[in-house]
This record gives sequence, structure tokens and C-alpha cells, in this order.
Amino acid sequence: MLEIKNLHARIAEDGTPILNGVDLTVKPGEVAAIMGPNGSGKSTLSYVIAGRDDYEVTDGDILWNGESILEMDPAERAASGVFLAFQYPMEIPGVPTMEFLKTALNAQRTSRGDEPLKIPEMLKRVKAAAAELEMDLSMLKRPLNVGFSGGEKKRAEILQMKLLEPKLCVLDETDSGLDIDALKVVADGVNHLRSQDRAFLVITHYQRLLNHIVPDSVHVLYKGRVIRSGGKELALQLEDQGYAEIIGEAA
Ligand code: ADP
Ligand code: MG
Ligand code: MG
Repeated sequence: MLEIKNLHARIAEDGTPILNGVDLTVKPGEVAAIMGPNGSGKSTLSYVIAGRDDYEVTDGDILWNGESILEMDPAERAASGVFLAFQYPMEIPGVPTMEFLKTALNAQRTSRGDEPLKIPEMLKRVKAAAAELEMDLSMLKRPLNVGFSGGEKKRAEILQMKLLEPKLCVLDETDSGLDIDALKVVADGVNHLRSQDRAFLVITHYQRLLNHIVPDSVHVLYKGRVIRSGGKELALQLEDQGYAEIIGEAA
């Protein structure tokens, strides 16, 4: 279970406060959507959960299964099951996707004190996961993200998620949004990976992703605070009316 309590965070470089008291609880099995206007701190929240060092937490806490993760570095957080999707959108020329996945998976195993997987077992796992996601296996031979379409990049991320089996998946659609192909890949992937012991934080500016990933809860972030929480109907209301009314009521 993820418990974010009165979380305050600022930009490390210049001290600008971005998160101003976020309260949010996400239970195992839950898909929580974070919505909110541009600039409200959604992406910052995902980076602070992942432990990026360009942000400083100045107050509050992030508890993961009852324990604070604030002192953990990003790798330790990942090892404990926190996965920030879309965190490797960079192209890695010269490194085939399969090679990247092997490295990521064995790095995780080593950090947990498990033996690295031997190559045949690794190939078997990656191919099985790719087949379940109906991925074209030829993609595994191409350098990660180099020349990938939006949909192929998302597919590679969903594949990482499936292999690394995180317990908390944070997905940030970002403001530019996903094209229809990529949106469908993400939605199908998330729905495939939904389970009783895995929680999702799905961050989206638009409601359209939530037509495909039906959330259990919806939270509106504004000026670094959750100003409204509700069920999936809240997303539909926002689609209909925009953010102005909820922001006005919160003011
Ligand atoms: P959202 O994802 O909701 O659009 P962000 O978390 O990206 O919001 O940004 C919230 C605010 O903080 C914006 O005004 C943004 O410009 C600012 N901000 C976030 N991160 C940084 C950073 N590393 N440097 C400068 N400004 C930042
Ligand atoms: Mg933004
Ligand atoms: Mg954003």
C-alpha cells in the first residue's frame, strides 16, 4: 500500500515549491488516476515517488507498505517494487532491446540478492512475456527506442513492467499525450497487468485514457495538492465540465 502524507516538495536547484501537501492512499489492486490541469505538479509527484534527485522533500512522507521510502535512492525504490513507467524513453543506439531488458532484469535480481538469470532462461522469459503482450519479437533485436513509433515505445515499457513485476506502477501520460496507437498499447498492457497485489497510479491530463483503463479512484491535483477525490464518475464529470468548477469550489 502506498500512503502519501502531507507531501511537500520543491525544485532542488532553485527551491521553488511544487508539491504543497499531497495526501493520497492507494491500496494493493487499486488503479488510482491522478488528473489535473497543466502545471499542477502531476509529473513532479511521479518523480518524487521514484526518488529523482532534482526534487527535495521538505515535509510529509511517502510510505510504501508502512515504511518511509524517502531515504531510499531510485534503485532501492525500484528493487522494492516501485516502477516509474515512461522513465526510459531515451534512445539507446547500439543496444538491442533484448540486451537492455536482460540488464534491467538482472540488475533488479542482483539488488535483491538473487542469482542473475542464465541466458537461455532469460530469453525464455522475455519471449514468453513478449508473446503474451502480442509483441512482434523482431522488435527485441532493434536498439531500444531508436526509430520506434509512439506505440512501440509504450510496448517496450509495458514489457519492462511485465518482466520486472513491480508492485506499484506509476505511469505519466505527460501533457503531449499519447497517439491512439500508443494509448491502446498502454491501456491493454495495464489491464493485462492489473492484479490484486499490484497498484497503479495513472497520471493523465485528459480523460480519454480512462475510457480504456477504468480507474477505481480519481484524484484531482491542483497547485500541488489533491483538491478532490472520487470514483470513476469524477473523470467523466471533468471531461464534461473541465477543471474550473472544482477549482472554484476548492478555493
Ligand atoms: P504537470 O505534470 O501537472 O503538468 P509538473 O509537475 O510538470 O506539472 O510541473 C509543475 C510546475 O513545476 C510547473 O510550473 C513546472 O514548470 C514546474 N517544474 C517542475 N519541475 C521543474 C524543474 N525541474 N525545473 C523547473 N521547473 C519545474
Ligand atoms: Mg506539465
Ligand atoms: Mg506532466
